[in-house]
Amino acid sequence: MAEIFVNGGKATFDKPKIELHVHLDGAIRIETILDVAKRRGIALPATTVSEMTSLCTVDKPGSLTEFLDKFNQYMHVIAGDREAIKRIAYEFVETKAKEGVIYVEVRYSPHLMANCDVEPIQWNQEKGDVTPDEVVHLVNEGLKEGEKAFKIKARSILCCMRHMPSWSMEVFELCKKYQNDGVVAIDLAGNESINCEASLHSKAYEEAEKSGIHRTVHAGEVGLPSVVREAVELLKAERIGHGYHTILDEVLYKQLLEQNMHFETCPVSSKLTGACEPDFTKHPIIRFKEDKANYSLNTDDPMIFNTTLESDYQTVKQYMGFTEEEFMRLNINAAKSSFLPEKEKKDLLNQLYEAYGMINDTNF
Ligand SMILES: [Zn+2]
Repeated sequence: MAEIFVNGGKATFDKPKIELHVHLDGAIRIETILDVAKRRGIALPATTVSEMTSLCTVDKPGSLTEFLDKFNQYMHVIAGDREAIKRIAYEFVETKAKEGVIYVEVRYSPHLMANCDVEPIQWNQEKGDVTPDEVVHLVNEGLKEGEKAFKIKARSILCCMRHMPSWSMEVFELCKKYQNDGVVAIDLAGNESINCEASLHSKAYEEAEKSGIHRTVHAGEVGLPSVVREAVELLKAERIGHGYHTILDEVLYKQLLEQNMHFETCPVSSKLTGACEPDFTKHPIIRFKEDKANYSLNTDDPMIFNTTLESDYQTVKQYMGFTEEEFMRLNINAAKSSFLPEKEKKDLLNQLYEAYGMINDTNF
């Protein structure tokens, strides 16, 4: 594989990577938003890339609520537009390929990009004819075309939203419908600090488990360890989105280490959303590293943080003492914890072993 260059320089970890936690609607190109707005005749408060970037991004620590408010700046441009939905999925794969990612699981809420069969219709859109089901179909098309063009593998995860339990059963049904067509799991996203009623989503998760659909849950990002416990015990989560605050409950943390629970960590995100203390040298990810926990490094919402995956790798190398060996270990764990079928997972792992010079070494 060719060397991976980022912003003109060699990447911090110049080898194939796996990304498991990134939101499609938080990973759109600013240029695309401006372009689509122009085509659709939607007036935006900014007309240049730099103006629009400052409206859509956060560059210093704030609250999760402030962060979520950024989506209001641009989601009405993309939502409900077939061409735009497919395009952002395609461009997403291109971006990831450039970052040296060989396998990515990208997540989104089908309801947040629809303008029909969704109650209430989001982002002050007029009622249209793009249903959540069609959103999934369009994203799948964009991802598949991107896979072909950029020679990497992309799968998707459909998100339930904490504040919209009425959508969750349909999210499960869409996961089931597209189970053999690109969708690998169900997620629970949104603001865990304002509404932590996980039980309202438990039916969808129960059905997902019965249907062999994989499960991840955003928990312990800004929320307490109890949210993580609930995700594992009630929702039967196989992976935890973020999970930093798990370490505040030593008993739970130890239990999850023993279970080899996977934590989808997002270093830059955790600082800018105010989920963790801004001092990276005291970050919970350091504890995960020291304990040889099972975790991955991810961007979460690179458009809103104005970052690439390189930013996260650079951050942990600079402030948390990450080594090349740890980067390899965590990517292998990410591949092992991916939601691919066993055979494809094995192939992915072999690709990594080969690229990392670890052929025949399956005991790493
Ligand atoms: Zn997330």
